[in-house]
Amino acid sequence: MIELSQWAGEPMMPGEVIVKTGDSGANMADYARERESFTWSEARRALEGLPGGGLNMAHEALVRHARGPRRDHVALRCLGRGDERTDVTFAELDRGSNRFANVLSALGVGPGERVFVLLPRDRELYEVALGTLKNRSVLCPLFAAFGPEPIRQRMEIGGASVLVTTATLYRHKVASLRDRLPALRHVLLAGEGTGDSAADTLDLAPLMEAAADEFLIGPTRPDDMALLHFTSGTTGTPKGAIHVHEAVVSHYVTGRLALDLHPEDVFWCTADPGWVTGTSYGIVSPLVHGVTTIVDEGDFDARRWYATLEHQRVSVWYTAPTALRMLMRAGAALAEEYDLSALRFIASVGEPLNPEVVLWGRDVLGRAIHDNWWQTETGGIMIANYPSMDIRPGSMGRPLPGIEAAVLRRGEGGHVLTGPDGDVQEVEPGQEGELALRPGWPSMFRGYLGNEERYRACFAGGWYLSGDLARRDEDGYFWFIGRGDDVIKSAGHLIGPFEVESALMEHEAVAEVGVIGVPDELLGEAVKAFVTLNAGVAPSEELRLDLLGFARRRLGAAVAPREILFTHDLPHTKSGKIMRRLLKARELGMPEGDTSTLEVPS
Ligand code: ATP
Ligand code: MG
Repeated sequence: MIELSQWAGEPMMPGEVIVKTGDSGANMADYARERESFTWSEARRALEGLPGGGLNMAHEALVRHARGPRRDHVALRCLGRGDERTDVTFAELDRGSNRFANVLSALGVGPGERVFVLLPRDRELYEVALGTLKNRSVLCPLFAAFGPEPIRQRMEIGGASVLVTTATLYRHKVASLRDRLPALRHVLLAGEGTGDSAADTLDLAPLMEAAADEFLIGPTRPDDMALLHFTSGTTGTPKGAIHVHEAVVSHYVTGRLALDLHPEDVFWCTADPGWVTGTSYGIVSPLVHGVTTIVDEGDFDARRWYATLEHQRVSVWYTAPTALRMLMRAGAALAEEYDLSALRFIASVGEPLNPEVVLWGRDVLGRAIHDNWWQTETGGIMIANYPSMDIRPGSMGRPLPGIEAAVLRRGEGGHVLTGPDGDVQEVEPGQEGELALRPGWPSMFRGYLGNEERYRACFAGGWYLSGDLARRDEDGYFWFIGRGDDVIKSAGHLIGPFEVESALMEHEAVAEVGVIGVPDELLGEAVKAFVTLNAGVAPSEELRLDLLGFARRRLGAAVAPREILFTHDLPHTKSGKIMRRLLKARELGMPEGDTSTLEVPS
């Protein structure tokens, strides 16, 4: 029986700790003290609640600001693909979203009905999203880059009543599927419109124009469904996670403690609202805090991003490891051309953040990167590095106040071991197992829509099982090892791809690495690394041998890759995660499985 205690590598401890000094003006001055005194019920009191009781996400995000001293503060700064820039205040966004809520209600779309949104990142997307929440319908944002089949699949699982999109996206991606979506009652075309009743679509602009800009939010219970979010599809078919209005309490708390939002901040979350990060932190959390949010319609481009950070004076920036690795690849000289002095705090999520990248942030951007961990299912940040807490590069940080996290023992087959009473065992510090959370936080998912069995399988012994492997050190910092499915079993040892990838990333020639296990007669599985190289570096046999030696010195022979293959691109999800299961399927000539979220390089 293979137990995870036979871990092959040394505990991933940092070579260097980034020490935080004294009072930084952070919302949380002292992690231990905050953790001790924190309660969710107290946190809830910072929110207003609906006049007659109840809790509605859009009320907290907009209505209370639009009626208060921040009414004329800029809520959104929308950047077009060119140089266009539009500012939208809290009062304006409140009125715009009221109009959309009135449009829905005039169409007879009621509470609980699913409104799918397939729009570019601009003002209308926000009016539609928040208007949907005000109407107590369920918001289901999709990524506009999805192809027809992933869109159909998600709308079918979600039982979509309404789709809001543009004429172009509709024509190219939805029109041909319409008769396969019997529940879909209305298609609203935003932007230029061009809807025609023959094609069963409506132009949104005249409807918005005709709608009143006042709307009274109806009674909303904290556990009424608010959002349906699909997972990234990194490990298989995406699941639709159900979230409720009460999640706004988590969005508020994490914005305060993990992102350190202050009233005068300019905040930029680079994720598209089609991913949970782009909704929880691209829409709800910053608005709840009354801060200005950057909404960028454009795609990643190193110069454009640096220019945005400089010109918009972004002070808090929330992005992803893959974007940071691309900036690293573009070189330090490029970063130096820009004035990034407004940046106060940088956070990252979505994938393991290599220690190399944390230090690069400190040295090149002037700010260390703060990794945090969470999932579509958790609805908000669960484990994080905070402004006032020392960083151990390579660690995801410590659990948010109010969150209890544990590492549970797994047995053969990879499942958490349960005793006769369904009890489970935690491992000792330093040992690895499955990362688990004690249910009960406000943004906890309440189900996978249409898949109750899968939902139930996520719980054991009073814990929510994340499916990720981790270890906790003596001081309560959590270290990511890999997804349960990605872990490599080699010569009786278990190897996490992240550790191998991070070691190779330290080599100056390497831009990005994806590591998998391939069948090996002797070892069971052998470690194989797919490597992309930095600009200007050519692949060669000499470099390959150098990398093999480099990895062996850092990791030891048991963990280092046996094989290294140079490649131009690694397969990523559209949200930027390396799809190791696809590397593996291709390597073994197996079926590729669900590739609906695969990013197709342009
Ligand atoms: P699917 O569940 O469909 O396979 P997914 O798990 O990638 O897709 P998300 O909910 O978007 O979908 O991503 C959550 C996962 O991303 C986590 O379970 C974890 O594996 C990974 N992740 C997120 N943040 C971090 C982090 N800071 N370090 C390491 N891994 C992370
Ligand atoms: Mg997942």
